[in-house]
Amino acid sequence: MKTEFSARQLGDPELYRIDKILRHCVHCGFCNATCPTYLLKGDELDGPRGRIYLLKDMLEKQTAPGREVVKHLDRCLSCLSCVSTCPSGVDYMHLIDHGRAYIEKHHNRILADKLLRGLLACILPNPNRFRWFLQLSSWARPLARFLPPSLQAALRLARQNSRICHEITEKIYYADGETRGRVALLPGCAQQVAANEINMASIRLLNRMGFDVHLLADTACCAAIEHHLGKTGPALDRIKANLRRWSTALPGLDALISNASGCGTMMKDYAHLLRQDRELSGIATEASNKTKDICEFLAQQDYHILHNTHTGGQTVAYQNPCSMQHAQKIHQEPLRLLQAFGYQTTTVPQAHLCCGSAGTYNILQPALAANLGQQKAESIASTKPDLIASGNLGCILQLRQYSEQPIVHTVQLLDWASGGPKPSEIK
Ligand code: SF4
Ligand code: SF4
Repeated sequence: MKTEFSARQLGDPELYRIDKILRHCVHCGFCNATCPTYLLKGDELDGPRGRIYLLKDMLEKQTAPGREVVKHLDRCLSCLSCVSTCPSGVDYMHLIDHGRAYIEKHHNRILADKLLRGLLACILPNPNRFRWFLQLSSWARPLARFLPPSLQAALRLARQNSRICHEITEKIYYADGETRGRVALLPGCAQQVAANEINMASIRLLNRMGFDVHLLADTACCAAIEHHLGKTGPALDRIKANLRRWSTALPGLDALISNASGCGTMMKDYAHLLRQDRELSGIATEASNKTKDICEFLAQQDYHILHNTHTGGQTVAYQNPCSMQHAQKIHQEPLRLLQAFGYQTTTVPQAHLCCGSAGTYNILQPALAANLGQQKAESIASTKPDLIASGNLGCILQLRQYSEQPIVHTVQLLDWASGGPKPSEIK
């Protein structure tokens, strides 16, 4: 793609990098075929190629983007399906991230939009505020029909979660028997409040495999929420605070485990985001290199040492989150583990398409997200599974709105099959 940045603009290392990304695009349009919003809307500007043109134009002109441009860029899920398809290796993730930060700085959103985005950035990354929001949401349900669609969507999602988990107090969970290594687990800002059973299942599995698990309970959030809302300043502050907190422990760890693929993707990008930071670039690179999704990590271990106590042989449809398959390129490991632990797995059609969760997308774009959620649930149901597994809490809560079958995290099924409790969602 021909770009027209001035020599002065190219003197800015950020724009120089963006220019290089844009120049990789040969506008073939292959990416449109796998873009969920292009497939739904059929509008070039709601596909990756059109969005790349919008971004190029906006960044070359360095002017405040208008409502139409922001509408099409806001509709992007950041699912990165286009990245998996692109034959030219266009780094769309860092391009749209830059675009979102630019919009946040230069576009004056309408007040309701500003308030909603501000509320999401204020509540979700903070476990105490999120706990408070879940309590409040149960009282607000009778009023739901008087609220705007975005808040109705937020209440619907909150309803998928009938209980609020207690704060985690334990810091270290020691290996069963001989210790083979040490790992740290990020409990996740929303996950430790809404679904701490996923963390407990992860800890039990890792302990059974011989790993001491250090729970990073004082780390509220990985910064993905603020980052994807374009709030770069608060996101970078949070990342830096995390890295300073982890700096002493990190060298002694075998891995930094994430059991929410959205968080894992964010942490694997710390090295890129802090590459210019003299103080923290080294530790950011170490953190990114050591970050492993729980299934990615378990699949690298000798998991056959675990006794498979499972006798059910249920059929499981595995929903591979976009952040897992398109961003982290993890495809086979969760399936291999499920099969090794006694489950039959099905092949979900159109597995590359997003379920519509996409961080806060199902709150900010409720209509598009509902459409994608229904389509994903139908694709999964067509394989006639007994259970659905996923590797990201956001996808789990999104799909619970549209699916009949119980949906749990993959590690809950692996834990159950190797001696842990049956997940409460499974009757
Ligand atoms: S597939 Fe890649 S090169 Fe082709 S239009 Fe899309 S982003 Fe550009
Ligand atoms: S990230 Fe997803 S929604 Fe956005 S342009 Fe790429 S494929 Fe489309």
